[in-house]
Amino acid sequence: MLASKLYCPTLREIPAEAEVVSHQYMLKAGMIRKNAGGVYTFLPLGRRVVRKIEAIVREEMDATGAQEIMMPIMQPAEIWHESGRWSAYGAEMFKLQDRHGNDYCLGPTHEELITTLVRNELRSYKQMPLTLYQMQNKYRDEIRPRFGLMRSREFVMKDAYSFDMDEEGLHQSYQVMYDAYSRIFDRCGLNYKPVLADSGQIGGSRTHEFMALADAGEADVVSCSACDFAANVEKAVPCTLDMPEESLKELEIIETPDCSTIDDLTNFLEIPIEKTIKAVAFDVDGKLALCMIRGDHEVNDVAVQNFVGGNTIEPAAPELLAAHGLEAGYMSPIHAADPDDTFIIIVDPTAMNVYNGVTGANKHGYHYKNVTPSRDFKNITVATIRLMMESDVCPVCGAPIHMVHGIEVGQVFELGTKYSTSLQATFLDQNGKAKPYVMGCYGIGVTRTMAAAIEQYHDEKGIIWPVNIAPYEVAILPVSTKDCAMMDIAGTLYAELQAAGIETLLDDRNERAGVKFNDADLIGYPIRITIGKKSAAEETVEIKLRRTDEVEVVSIKQAAGRVRD
Ligand code: ATP
Ligand code: MG
Ligand code: MG
Ligand code: MG
Repeated sequence: MLASKLYCPTLREIPAEAEVVSHQYMLKAGMIRKNAGGVYTFLPLGRRVVRKIEAIVREEMDATGAQEIMMPIMQPAEIWHESGRWSAYGAEMFKLQDRHGNDYCLGPTHEELITTLVRNELRSYKQMPLTLYQMQNKYRDEIRPRFGLMRSREFVMKDAYSFDMDEEGLHQSYQVMYDAYSRIFDRCGLNYKPVLADSGQIGGSRTHEFMALADAGEADVVSCSACDFAANVEKAVPCTLDMPEESLKELEIIETPDCSTIDDLTNFLEIPIEKTIKAVAFDVDGKLALCMIRGDHEVNDVAVQNFVGGNTIEPAAPELLAAHGLEAGYMSPIHAADPDDTFIIIVDPTAMNVYNGVTGANKHGYHYKNVTPSRDFKNITVATIRLMMESDVCPVCGAPIHMVHGIEVGQVFELGTKYSTSLQATFLDQNGKAKPYVMGCYGIGVTRTMAAAIEQYHDEKGIIWPVNIAPYEVAILPVSTKDCAMMDIAGTLYAELQAAGIETLLDDRNERAGVKFNDADLIGYPIRITIGKKSAAEETVEIKLRRTDEVEVVSIKQAAGRVRD
């Protein structure tokens, strides 16, 4: 490619809205442009990177025997009604209507579509295992599209779906995908970690997320210092008063139990795994009261008791609460054996009055004496049940764990029969008996992976692409375009590298050398070959690696060979 022909409008100033490095540099280096919140155009250099990642993903998918298909982006509402997710998916789904008033959505994911697609034609156990995949734009009306390609509303995803006749088959299909994901992210050059994750919206049982480790990551990952245990603390709430505003906003209400007695409530609140965080939101007389519990306790000893008994009045981050349209806050780190272990925030001051019958004590059953659920609180919702905090230890080996930030670049799920059951998608087993498919689903954020690579590999001058996903591998920079000897050498090298199948850009622009160097650093070509004044006389060029700044002067004849190595 000739730089003089490349459509690559670089920017001097970074738009203020670009908060993270990947977003800033992609805009600055002329790789993407914003069209609407979370909606971007990929300019030629950006498009090339996406295609590189897609090619790696496609190769590795094909190598597993998965077969590529292409499903429609636009999906009919009926299948989502059938699965029950038309309303369950919530506001994140983009919905539209045709001229006849029929409902559709822009696919945020494709479990419904693929299951209904194959249900009449994937009929026999003999056709399984089967894994189908596609790579395509997905649409999610994210609450806060931000960070450029990291959380956009239109993005490229590779999504794969496996169909097996039984659980054992599913485990195998899952492992095949898990291994392929590892190869994909290795080849993309990412520093990543597969972590245990919650299955969230998609449902199902076993699931891992592939996290690219980076400060800008929105996911919190706990990682063991001694063994390879790692888990997602997605949306976990730090147990401190200066709780970041983020965590409250992100609080996800996952379940609304029907609790009419204290026993119902305590049963419901039971913490299934040790060291779990639960946030419990109580709707008290139409106002939200929120309490968060942490610790090794039985929740019924802590949550309920502290909730109803928490009456130490202390302002709890009033600005934070105000930002959520909530009135005032009371913080009660009381009643737990270890005050650090537990805390509670009662958001609505009037809610306190409801609990007159209750006094604080650290005794089982004591706090909710005289509390009547239907009278004293209405809807109880349990939110955000996730794993550990910084100070905790690894559940596998007991060594200290620490928290790191991660960018979720991929996720693999064992869905089981969730969709095949709700969508009545069955096959005939060896005995001629109809059974629901045992399914898995597997996603990779292609465009997010591009952003993640930049988050991991950059410096103050710009991007440092891993070579496998760089828009061009080599940039040839003749320092003066007017110098015929230099341009000759450049032209020869350019032809040679291209012939060798190395993707090369020749910066033939009539620009000052400094401009070319800066652009090359900003765009992040892994290798730069500079042709300077001495090149013609000494028959040498300078090869520089973007990542290490290593410089090597080699003879012109050897240059192409050296690059290939
Ligand atoms: P997140 O937790 O970040 O919201 P998710 O768990 O909702 O992501 P999945 O449903 O697992 O996402 O989708 C598969 C992959 O698609 C994710 O692992 C991620 O890499 C990518 N992805 C999801 N949402 C977005 C988005 N808004 N922008 C870019 N990529 C995304
Ligand atoms: Mg999401
Ligand atoms: Mg996620
Ligand atoms: Mg996910």
